[in-house]
Amino acid sequence: MGSGVARAEGEDGAAAGSSQVGADVRSASDGADFQSAQEGAEVRQFWERLGLPGLVDVHTHFMPERVLRKVWEYFDAVGPLTGLEWPITYRGEEDERTAVLRQFGVRAFTAMLYPHKPGMAEWLNGWAVDFARRTPDCLHTATLFPEPAVTSYVRRAVDDGARVFKAHVQVGAYDPADELLDSAWGLLAEAGIPVVIHCGSGPAPGKHTGPEPIRRVLARHSRLRLVVAHMGMPEYEDFLGLAERYGEVRLDTTMAFTDFSERFAPFPRRALPRLDALGDRILLGSDFPNIPYAYVHQLHALERLGLGDDWLRAVCYGNGARLFGL
Ligand SMILES: [Zn+2]
Repeated sequence: MGSGVARAEGEDGAAAGSSQVGADVRSASDGADFQSAQEGAEVRQFWERLGLPGLVDVHTHFMPERVLRKVWEYFDAVGPLTGLEWPITYRGEEDERTAVLRQFGVRAFTAMLYPHKPGMAEWLNGWAVDFARRTPDCLHTATLFPEPAVTSYVRRAVDDGARVFKAHVQVGAYDPADELLDSAWGLLAEAGIPVVIHCGSGPAPGKHTGPEPIRRVLARHSRLRLVVAHMGMPEYEDFLGLAERYGEVRLDTTMAFTDFSERFAPFPRRALPRLDALGDRILLGSDFPNIPYAYVHQLHALERLGLGDDWLRAVCYGNGARLFGL
């Protein structure tokens, strides 16, 4: 989710404390509880029962190792600071994490990465090219930030084969309607490339989070394929309204409806019929590996909404497969 990631990544001394984090990573991944065979079976049971070939997960995080470790460091600290315990369930080396997704039967996933300052997006995009090259089941992901070079590096990422972008309004602390981003949004709208955007005010609000700035972006780029992360938590109904108004707007399920999120940002039951009606534009997202519960819980949280098997099939596989031409 990355609410306080700005703070975690904000300390530029990335090496500081990293050896200790490294030790934690090793001990966690050596342990038997990193991911159990039983959980793999439970995840597969979920999609096999629906007759699906697997899952498409549009919201998973892969990023340069030192950035990811800063993110984990943040989540480790968040419990003692706020009382909201956030134990990372899938802490491990990169190849172990991709192996877990494959064992779950995730046929396609993303590498959601995002800058918190200028001059960082291009470097992240370079890393993402290599990651996509060595990870064929990853949908090549890129990112952006309002800065003078943005149009040219977004064009280059598209030329390099990027299939999805990630924007994080809260961590980046920028206005998505910033003029500097205007031609980049235009270019992405024209290319039909989806942009997963964390723009809701949950779990933590930012200066530019909430539906209003997104309304301004869509007023100028009505065909932009925004995928509102976390269902727009906690402004669920405003963002559902934007999806109802703009036919290319979608929402991802990431962390929504789970026991964890329902405690601080419950999804309003009265909006369930709207969720049902938008069933062809809701996409499975998980936030793997940075989740404080087992992956299968996100799937069960969708199932217990009671919207039926056709809805689940579309959300967990069909919509993503269609969007990305899988
Ligand atoms: Zn996320």
